[in-house]
Amino acid sequence: MGPRPVLLNRRIAGIASTSMALVLGVATVGLLPVATTTASPAAAAVADEHCEDPTGTAARVRGDAVVKHDPNELTMAQLHQREAEFADLLQERAKRVGQRTLSTQAAAASVTIPVVVHVIRRDTTRAGGNIPDSMIQSQINVLNQSFSGATGGAATAFAFQLQSINRVTNTAWYPIRQGTSAERQMKTQLRQGTKGTLNIYLGELSNGLLGWATFPQTTLNVMDGVVVLSESLPGGTATNYNQGDTGTHEVGHWLNLYHTFQGGCSGQGDQVADTPAEASPAYQCPTGRDTCTSPGLDPITNFMDYTYDSCMYQFTPGQATRMINAWNTYRA
Ligand SMILES: [Zn+2]
Repeated sequence: MGPRPVLLNRRIAGIASTSMALVLGVATVGLLPVATTTASPAAAAVADEHCEDPTGTAARVRGDAVVKHDPNELTMAQLHQREAEFADLLQERAKRVGQRTLSTQAAAASVTIPVVVHVIRRDTTRAGGNIPDSMIQSQINVLNQSFSGATGGAATAFAFQLQSINRVTNTAWYPIRQGTSAERQMKTQLRQGTKGTLNIYLGELSNGLLGWATFPQTTLNVMDGVVVLSESLPGGTATNYNQGDTGTHEVGHWLNLYHTFQGGCSGQGDQVADTPAEASPAYQCPTGRDTCTSPGLDPITNFMDYTYDSCMYQFTPGQATRMINAWNTYRA
C-alpha cells in the first residue's frame, strides 16, 4: 500500500481529518480545542488521524454547529511538503515540454474528465440513499457550469463526462465513514480507471460531513476520489447545501486546490495569488467580510470557501492555472 492519500472534507458540524474541512452554517469564529467542542468519538478519531497522517485531508461540513475547529486543515509542514513536490514536478515538466506550452494550456475546456459515480445505498429507497439518475446528471451539469465559468467565475480547462453509475447496496458502507477500514474496503472494491478518472462516491456520510476528497499524488492510490453527501446534489434535502457546490468544492481539492482560508492572513495562503487572504472559513453568506489587512475582501464567493451553495459561484484565473498545472503533472 502506498502512502495514504490526502483528503479534503466538507462537513456539517466540524470535524474532518488530516486536511481541510468545510464546515457549514457556523456563525461563530475562532478556534476551539477539539476537547471542548461537541466532540464525538469520531471527532477524536479524526484528530488522532490528523496527527498520524503527514499528507493531510480536507472536509466540508454542514449544519449549524458551533464548532470552528478545523482539524482537516493542512499544517504548514504538510503544505510545504506538498508544494515542494508540486514545484519539482512542474519544473521537470517545463523542461520536458517547454514553459510556453505550460502557460498556454490553462485556457478553454481542453480536458474532459471521465466520471464514475458510485451510489452507496442502504436499500433501494430514496431514504436509504438510492438517489435518482436525474440528480446525478444534474450534478455533472453543475460541475460543467462551475468549471467553465458559466456561473460567473474564471473558465478552467475542465469538462466532465459521466461514464457510468454504479449502485451498491451495502449497509457496512452506509454511512460512509471517513478514514475507516470500511472506506478503504469500499474504494478498493469499487474504484475504476486511472489517475485521470474521477470516482465520486455518494451516500450518507458520518459526522455531518458534506464531503471529502483526496489531493493528487504521483502514483495512483486506491483511496483517490471524492466522497459527497448524496443529498447535497442538486434537488437534495441538505438545506443550503443542495445546489451541487459540495461536488464542485471537492473536485477543486481533487485538482489540487486548497481552501481560500488556508494559511490564514500570512504567507502565501492557498498558494494562489488572486484569492485574497482570509483569516478563517466564512459561513452562510456574510456581506463585506474582510478578515485580513492585506488587499481585498474575503473571497466568500469562491468555491473553495465554506459558504452556502447560493453564495459560492466562482474559481479565479489563478486557481484555474493551478488546476491545469496539477492535472498535467499528476493526473494526465
Ligand atoms: Zn474543503
